[in-house]
Amino acid sequence: MYTIDLIREVLEVKDDRLANYNQQITELVYDSRKVNQPEQSLFFALTAARDGHDFILDAYQRGVRSFVVSRLTADLETLAAVNILLVADPLAAMQRLATYHRLQFKGLLVGIAGSNGKSIVKEWLHQLLGHDKQVYQSPKSYNSQLGVALSLWNLGPQYDIALIEAGISEPGEMERLQEIIQPDLGIFTNIGEAHAQYFESIQAKLQEKLKLFQHAKALIAGSKYIQKAMLPECLDWYSWGSLESDSLCVLDQHTLAKGTALTILLKGEEYSFEVPFTDRASVENCLTCSTVMLYFQYSMSEIIKRLQLLRPLEMRLQLKKGIHNCSLIDDSYSNDLASLQISLDFLSQQNQHQKKTLILSDMEGLQQTAKFQDKVVSLINRANLQRFIWVGPEYPWLTSLAVPEIHLFAETTALLESLDKLAFKEESILIKGARAYQFELLVQRLTLRSHGTVLEINLNALSHNLMHYRSMIPNQVKLMAMVKAFSYGSGSFEVANLLQFSKVDYLTVAFADEGVELRLGGIQLPIMVLSPDSDTFQTLLQYNLEPEVYSMRFLEEFMSFLKDVGKTAYPIHLKLDTGMHRLGFLPNEVPALLSRLQTQEEVHVQSCFTHLVASGDPEQDAFTQQQIDTYSHCAKQLEEGLGYTFIKHVANTSAIVRWPQAHFDMVRLGIGLYGVDMDHTRSTIEKVSTLKTTVTQLKDLPQTETVGYDRKGVLTRDSRIATVKIGYADGYNRKFGYGIGKMKINGQLVPTVGTICMDMCMLDVTDIEVKEGDDVEVFPDIMAAAKAIDTIPYELLVNIASRVKRVYYFE
Ligand SMILES: *Cc1c(COP(=O)(O)O)cnc(C)c1O
Repeated sequence: MYTIDLIREVLEVKDDRLANYNQQITELVYDSRKVNQPEQSLFFALTAARDGHDFILDAYQRGVRSFVVSRLTADLETLAAVNILLVADPLAAMQRLATYHRLQFKGLLVGIAGSNGKSIVKEWLHQLLGHDKQVYQSPKSYNSQLGVALSLWNLGPQYDIALIEAGISEPGEMERLQEIIQPDLGIFTNIGEAHAQYFESIQAKLQEKLKLFQHAKALIAGSKYIQKAMLPECLDWYSWGSLESDSLCVLDQHTLAKGTALTILLKGEEYSFEVPFTDRASVENCLTCSTVMLYFQYSMSEIIKRLQLLRPLEMRLQLKKGIHNCSLIDDSYSNDLASLQISLDFLSQQNQHQKKTLILSDMEGLQQTAKFQDKVVSLINRANLQRFIWVGPEYPWLTSLAVPEIHLFAETTALLESLDKLAFKEESILIKGARAYQFELLVQRLTLRSHGTVLEINLNALSHNLMHYRSMIPNQVKLMAMVKAFSYGSGSFEVANLLQFSKVDYLTVAFADEGVELRLGGIQLPIMVLSPDSDTFQTLLQYNLEPEVYSMRFLEEFMSFLKDVGKTAYPIHLKLDTGMHRLGFLPNEVPALLSRLQTQEEVHVQSCFTHLVASGDPEQDAFTQQQIDTYSHCAKQLEEGLGYTFIKHVANTSAIVRWPQAHFDMVRLGIGLYGVDMDHTRSTIEKVSTLKTTVTQLKDLPQTETVGYDRKGVLTRDSRIATVKIGYADGYNRKFGYGIGKMKINGQLVPTVGTICMDMCMLDVTDIEVKEGDDVEVFPDIMAAAKAIDTIPYELLVNIASRVKRVYYFE
């Protein structure tokens, strides 16, 4: 139990104002929207892309009374009965508090680092060791400077083992994480290419990651990744690999239809067994977990028995289309307090349905502690649910939850039998269950079927990219997110809901009907429509959509419509043509436009903008400058003439990066939000969309055969050909035929063979290892793919057909 006074001591705070010394603190929060038990929350005003000090008032209004800040803001001065701790760096303070808490932990703390597989290894160890030990694991991918601190804070004394994941992207970060985590035992999964951009070499990256373990007692890793010589003398070393010196030595390994057969040598004895995975990464993760189990002195026969129970995991929360027009949030792989909070937050962002339902299973440890139950109750009561469906033992508090409709089931099978009666329809359903409850069966029943090609959209990457561009513009500059053409192909209200939650200022669509879809999907943000037609005026008004006005004719039509329906001061956005020569008023038309606007009351100029034709091209910089100058001049003329100010905006993605002088009052972020780095900024923007399909059939053909229509797929050798279910009707351009298109299977690039068919195409997989059912990434490098057929990534993205199912991921 921590009081604010104790925390003050731990942090050695010199400057404080405490209204209530004895205030208990149980929760550390940094996002005012994610406050659960406000009185017991301590709000840290972190400064990242946004300044947390700006959200103090919001947190206060939600009931938070304790704050860690780096300066006293005017807001703070006005608040009564609050506890304030003034520190130099709130993030460092949070970390310090987490470390203090970590040092109270009497169990064994395991730190996990590596490029890939950290979360899987963590989750598997949780399953493997959980049979007879109390195991804590850091939630989801809480592995950053902030995430690690929050994970440690939630570590309770009841656990025997804590598994904490540590992730870094830049040099210097691991040292800091080491100081916070101070692991007793280390696990290193592997080293890959991810985030290599900040490191000189793989070696440098490896050295950085190993810093986590510098004061640990022992380290577990594959000898193919780490050699003893690289480690400090005092660190005990347990390795797996093919060397005789390895603690767990793999003598033989071969792939079977549904698993991998392994023969290992352990202390002079041979063991042969199967693990239920065929891909290399999973097999390596099994070996890592086995070595950890050996460290904990389990017998090999026990380890083999438990390995059989492991299953591949979908580690991320997924948003999918459900039956009867439902949205399904599938988070059925685990269930603990932290991940329940994350997924309920996600549910609250997605506003496409009024009705929200939570299907929840019992949680480990819930029965034992009243405090835990209180937290679950308050999470559920705050989630604005219409329905709550529970699977598990009947706790007394279940029936008194503040949810209109409550259904209780003892087992998943009972719920499955009642699914039809529950009549799910037009609602958002969050499915959250512990592994043992097999909620994947529920998910199967409630998901809309589709063919094997999906577009995966990583919403974390999207919000990361948003923050990245936001950090490039000054605080007072607004941000308009371009969601035209279904958010550049990546979806409509699903993406928009996230943007709304992330507090962008404006959204922009191309046509009125795209705006209508967003409104029906729960979007309240102002929406600009780029190409409105006169036959959609009624729709614009009905759904509160704001048109771009680009010509006198259009302006007159719109004003006369407004006059007919008796509307005044309707917001419009003036488009100036400063060089694109598409839509917009030319500079010489501005005086006429101005005098017309001065003599009417139907419309109000909300903003005035222009579009740059080549903001990303250094060779055209003189022209871009000229566009900016022309725009400034015209906008000034309009503002002075109208006698009021409006929002001025010019910059698209490239101009956000390259033309800070063109940020004006607002920027219009497009392609960069969706993870395409047109400016080669080597910045940290992340890939958002991944188009995926699977290998449907494999065949071995002699050189004399041909592949596909018109015998155009000529073979130059005996070949192995894979058929995949994606064709030009899905948006895979016919120009990708004859080897121009390259897809990725099991980490290897493979070319197309012959022509691209309507619903399928063929790949030459002669040189790689592949089996039917393997995943295929269609555009491993979208810039290269676009270049290969002489187009731009924008076109490839927006052409992905609507029949390709979109699945949204969130961590
Ligand atoms: C599409 C569009 C943008 C966004 O451009 P990106 O290059 O994708 O950032 C900005 N402004 C207008 C008017 C647009 O049509």
